[in-house]
Amino acid sequence: MSKETNPSSQIHSAPSLIGRAGGESSSFFNPEFETLTREQLEALQLERLKKTVEHCLTNEFYQKKFAEAGITPDDIQTLADVRKLPFTTKQDLRDTYPFGMACVPLRDCVRLHSSSGTTGNPTVILHTQKDLDEWANQVARNLWMVGLRPDDVFQNSSGYGMFTGGLGFQYGAERLGMLTVPAAAGNSLRQIKFIKDFGTTAIHAVPSYVTRLYEVMQEEGVDPRRDTKLRVLAIGAEPHSEEQRQRIEQMMGVKAYNSFGMSEMCGPGVGFECPEQNGLHFWEDYYIVEIVDPETLEPVPDGEIGELVLTTLCREAMPLLRYRTRDLTRVLGRSCPCGRNHVRLDRMRGRSDDMMVLRGVNIFPIQIEKILMQFPELASNYLITLTTDENNDNMTVEVELAQPTDDYKRLQNLEREIKRRLKDEILLTPFVKLVAKGTLPVSEGKAVRVVDKRKVYQ
Ligand code: AMP
Ligand code: ZN
Repeated sequence: MSKETNPSSQIHSAPSLIGRAGGESSSFFNPEFETLTREQLEALQLERLKKTVEHCLTNEFYQKKFAEAGITPDDIQTLADVRKLPFTTKQDLRDTYPFGMACVPLRDCVRLHSSSGTTGNPTVILHTQKDLDEWANQVARNLWMVGLRPDDVFQNSSGYGMFTGGLGFQYGAERLGMLTVPAAAGNSLRQIKFIKDFGTTAIHAVPSYVTRLYEVMQEEGVDPRRDTKLRVLAIGAEPHSEEQRQRIEQMMGVKAYNSFGMSEMCGPGVGFECPEQNGLHFWEDYYIVEIVDPETLEPVPDGEIGELVLTTLCREAMPLLRYRTRDLTRVLGRSCPCGRNHVRLDRMRGRSDDMMVLRGVNIFPIQIEKILMQFPELASNYLITLTTDENNDNMTVEVELAQPTDDYKRLQNLEREIKRRLKDEILLTPFVKLVAKGTLPVSEGKAVRVVDKRKVYQ
């Protein structure tokens, strides 16, 4: 019996009924907000922006910022006026660590997430109960959008704890009404047992972990198409190429949807692909989305790559104005055959901090991944190491082979061809090392793709 027809489903708390407004056959979880026209969306954004600005001004940090910029809430009359507002950065969060950017008393906060920085203070993000409710709603909206319903079984194979991919998806999947398995990351044998025993139909994990899971399935003789009920994957939290996604879809035999999240905005739920898979819908009832030139900080035209800047519109505990995410992307469109007019952004090219500068050339790890994934002879795990030799910077790309082989001639040719294709893409020739499967490190969280051992950091 489906949960919809079972009278005991009445015990669901009110918010999970949101998606039922249009019934389970509706493709919208929040039809009221998902189907707004651009005009309606922008009117809603302006109204919410004004409230957010007033709310921010209860906090000393923002009072100072506004005074420095010489602006008051009255300066916000149109949506374009968002550009008058000061930017905020990760450094601001570090400088005000731990609670300096809170806009409600601490006693009104019920959760804290923290991301560890490589230098200095970590960042802290606070949530009120309403923030958590909205966040769960955002995640539920995404999962509903790609066809998940209360009869699905959702296995969250992502790290829990401070990393928002754990609790974020947990509460979102529960909000939708799915049986939700907090499997957490790692322990692939146990994951596979759960998938089979519980009839898991959907998994959330970082893409690098999905490929690892598939390798273990292969070792165990498990065919995801034949032996599981999997039908949807949500992959995200780390940059991955379209080629990597297609590989994952082919391996697992299901659709894999790109999920964008960041703890500063809440966590997962900020942007997600719809079934059209033509970019990530960023939810503009929750955020104002700007793409700016990272140097001049001026807006770039649609279609041009720039830095993603987000302003929260519904956050109580820690609203953020014009937060510089450092993620590089571009606007693909503002309408979609799926019926949503929320902006569509291209998959993240990487973070500006991930950019490697090698012999004067700017390179993103994702460019290298894109090429590697085009070779069926290669597995999905790779590592880029940067070193200095005398005065030259060098790059070594180590990549695992899909199948073991002793055919040195073939390996040599393969290596040569990889180098050639990489050179076309990144304009310099790296060293390429083909290694056996299982040789390179696999992290349970976000994959570490680059190790920079150069003497001089650029
Ligand atoms: P965290 O706050 O630790 O969850 O990290 C957020 C960052 O992870 C973002 O700013 C992005 O750089 C990265 N990220 C999250 N989701 C994606 C995604 N789908 N594609 C590419 N990068 C992502
Ligand atoms: Zn769409």
